[in-house]
Amino acid sequence: MSDLICSEAFRSFLNDYKTDVFAQDETLGNISESIAPLAKELGYLNLYVSLDAPVSDSAAEGLLIHTTIFGEELFANEEQKREAKFITGEGGVLIIGASMPAADEWTKNAEEDFKLLAKLLYVFFGRARVMNILRYSDTHDKLSKALTIDGLMISAGRLFAENPGTVFDCVAINIRNLKFVNDKASQSGGNLAIYKYAAKLIKFLGKKGRVARSDGDNFVVLVEDSRLDELLEFLKSVRLDITVDGKTMSFDMPCSAGIFKGRDHTPLNAMIYKSMLTMNYLKDYRLGDSLVYTEEIEEQVNYYKKIVGRFKEAIKNKQFSVFYQPKVDVETKTLIGAEALVRWYDNGTFISPMNFIPILEREGYISTLDYFVFDKACEDIENWLKQGIEPVRISTNFSKDNLKNINLIQDVLDIVEKHGIDGKYLEIEFTELCDFKDMDAMCAFIHTMQSHGITITVDDFGKGYSSFDLIRMLDMNVIKIDKSLVDNVCREGSADKVILDHVVRMFIELDKEVIAEGVETVEQARLLEKTGCKHVQGYLFDKPLPHYDFERRLVTRNYYENIIK
Ligand code: C2E
Ligand code: CA
Ligand code: CA
Repeated sequence: MSDLICSEAFRSFLNDYKTDVFAQDETLGNISESIAPLAKELGYLNLYVSLDAPVSDSAAEGLLIHTTIFGEELFANEEQKREAKFITGEGGVLIIGASMPAADEWTKNAEEDFKLLAKLLYVFFGRARVMNILRYSDTHDKLSKALTIDGLMISAGRLFAENPGTVFDCVAINIRNLKFVNDKASQSGGNLAIYKYAAKLIKFLGKKGRVARSDGDNFVVLVEDSRLDELLEFLKSVRLDITVDGKTMSFDMPCSAGIFKGRDHTPLNAMIYKSMLTMNYLKDYRLGDSLVYTEEIEEQVNYYKKIVGRFKEAIKNKQFSVFYQPKVDVETKTLIGAEALVRWYDNGTFISPMNFIPILEREGYISTLDYFVFDKACEDIENWLKQGIEPVRISTNFSKDNLKNINLIQDVLDIVEKHGIDGKYLEIEFTELCDFKDMDAMCAFIHTMQSHGITITVDDFGKGYSSFDLIRMLDMNVIKIDKSLVDNVCREGSADKVILDHVVRMFIELDKEVIAEGVETVEQARLLEKTGCKHVQGYLFDKPLPHYDFERRLVTRNYYENIIK
């Protein structure tokens, strides 16, 4: 009978063996540090551990480990060697082996001691592997095999400690075309793309970098500052072959990258946050492939958040008011309509629509505001009619985002019906239509509105890229010439004058109503009149007016006679 358990060396091995070491490779080191006296007493030449584990969640390429934990690596003959084999949970094989200087030293007792020791080492090593797998699944993303963000926080500590003096940058990456890959290669193709993309990144960054997947098609990377440019070049060139059901497709994988340049004392969670914030900002404003974080960007993003927060409060409390900017017929010098423009006074400070409308459009709140203004205009028209004041046609601005709402037509008609007013008093100006795609929704909307007597207008014609296609395909009633085209018409030799002249003539021939906005001088008004554009709107006649000032214009319709003689 072996007396291993009672031996001094065995007890000192157990005493020295650290129970707070969890990682697999560290456990082997731990065993190796504490087992030498016992191995010597047992007379071993060497003691080794071999693991051959297949591919699993925690080991993408399987595991092959061979470590000598005592003595020298040597080629002992079979008689000198004893090996104990254990099958691991995922179907791998763990071998614990020991060699004696001579075959006859494997006495019955020695054999029993070895079996006991091998089992014990199997338990120790097995415990480390289980801890490892647990920690792996806690710190790694199942799909991409990259780290999770929590895993990155843990793993980066080690990266920084192992590389003192190296500056690391944090890069938030969003793959731009994953939806396209999903569409073309199915969801499993998309999943494969995420895995392959991560694998490429991990390989590129090597040991001195980290890759985490935060969610969906978003990654966060830690890269040595000296390799940042190389990484950005690499990101531009990623191309993946995806094979699904035996069919292989190739995809370019463009991405948007938000960069936070590493600097002293910025905690990792702040680096991650700031890189993500920069990436989202870059995407929202389509500022190219990559952008480096600045404090100004963060301030702007915070301002947007503040605006959105305040907006929700303000709309709930009806803190918006509607001003009316008159539209005038230059020939008859009479008021022919007005544009309803929203005004927001937040705690006494005026916030310009130019500052908050683009934010609301981006954040998806613009429809709420447009409905509010439309409803308010309808209410005012209803009240004027009740007071016996004949209103003019009032236009409100609708962002094209409204067309995403499948209930738009019904919502608009419900508001009109609620106030019981005739559609002839209403006009809807559509802005930013140049990159508009959903023609069917637009056509249905236009025709239904027109059948209810409501006028539809293309706003801002001539600003940016105005599409003649759009005018041809959509049966709009009114074209509103943008201020930017009006601004230069009186300058000697201005091309804008020629353009304006032709554009107005063309629309008149197409039987469209034409109006020009931003008219500030008598010369501009005269010139427009000469080209055939008799309807104008601008500071020359009136700025946007508060409710009661505009009401006076409705009552005193000859107000404009003195402005333009
Ligand atoms: P817009 O539709 O082009 O409206 C005309 C803007 O030009 C108004 O600015 C108006 O005050 C200004 N303006 C009018 N005449 C003149 C002029 O002679 N000279 C100069 N320098 N400016 C003139 P505002 O009220 O600041 O509105 C800015 C933009 O905000 C509007 O441009 C419109 O696109 C948007 N907006 C305003 N209210 C709403 C709304 O309720 N919904 C939506 N979606 N957008 C709105
Ligand atoms: Ca407008
Ligand atoms: Ca405009």
